[in-house]
Amino acid sequence: MQPKKNIVHLPVYKPGKPMEEVKRELGLTEVIKLASNENPFGCSPKAKEAIIAHVDQASIYPDGGAVELTNAVAEHFGVETNQVIFGAGSDEIILMLARAFFVPGDETIMATTTFPQYKHNAEIEGAVCIEVPLKDGAHDLQAMLAAITERTKIVWLCNPNNPTGTMHSHQEVEAFLKAVPPHVLVVLDEAYAEYNVSGEYPDSIALINQFKNAIILRTFSKIYGLATLRIGYGIGHADVIRSINQVREPFNTTGFAQKAALAALKDNQFIEDCREANAQGIAYLSEQFKKLNLSYYPAHGNFIMVDVQRPGAQVFDSLLCKGIIIRHDAGWGEPTKIRVTVGSREQNEKFIAALEKALNEVPVEA
Ligand SMILES: *Cc1c(COP(=O)(O)O)cnc(C)c1O
Repeated sequence: MQPKKNIVHLPVYKPGKPMEEVKRELGLTEVIKLASNENPFGCSPKAKEAIIAHVDQASIYPDGGAVELTNAVAEHFGVETNQVIFGAGSDEIILMLARAFFVPGDETIMATTTFPQYKHNAEIEGAVCIEVPLKDGAHDLQAMLAAITERTKIVWLCNPNNPTGTMHSHQEVEAFLKAVPPHVLVVLDEAYAEYNVSGEYPDSIALINQFKNAIILRTFSKIYGLATLRIGYGIGHADVIRSINQVREPFNTTGFAQKAALAALKDNQFIEDCREANAQGIAYLSEQFKKLNLSYYPAHGNFIMVDVQRPGAQVFDSLLCKGIIIRHDAGWGEPTKIRVTVGSREQNEKFIAALEKALNEVPVEA
């Protein structure tokens, strides 16, 4: 047996430890997970109702074309229905883009460090990844432009960038798209768009109307609080959406996901409340980091990357013993930084209390 050469070096995804296991191993009664940018307030009660109402349909295949949801999303954004596609999370749209666009030897450009799925899926298809280092935690747009060649197929912009949380404004993204040659597809991954309160976030619908070679990725996993249902979407030019549809599996999103997403999309109040609570959480955490003399990147999603000035892996372990799961990844190339999801007010306060203790326990120059 011989798997294809370009996958044999790939690591198998390491999921975080289940919370119940963490509790048992460390003898904790309460564990707070601020590691995966999930919504601390769950999902809209209307989405819950929609899931329950669909239980009797569990034996029936879902609507493969997600027609009702497609109509609702198209109407929500003022685009045509043939400009919208759904995936099992926006992760699957990234996979489908790679599958539809890359042949071995194609080039693709992404930041380092950014969301890992761009590189992962590109490598599976044998594309050559050109990784452009971040500048002050943000994409170096000039350097990314300079890296484009006639072999470049896709450029990935994660905005806000995961894991740093930094953002590019409408003006910056527009100028970037103007400079990108038309043979290159630009993916605007906007998984955290609904959290934005900066007033400068790209009007990306205007951008895709202006630039045929741009596609937006959004998800119901983050502010909508439906991560377990696996549903996300892409909006772009009908030709690009058609190419993705040609490689899509017939029943790639579930009936539960479609129904819940439809209900969640209509519950504006829930989204507004979550956005507001998140903005307050960012203000609170930023203020506490300042008090602790820790620098952090300006946060535009529902997470913050902070420099704990100590080995991040040790701070991670220390926080874990106190029942707080955050994120640290040696692969980031940021040994003293951790990423924390903005929780509820109570969770944020517990995190800060635990962090203060952790900073006292972990020596600065270990
Ligand atoms: C969470 C996330 C996604 C995708 O999440 P799905 O659950 O697959 O929809 C995509 N991009 C970024 C940057 C993310 O953080």
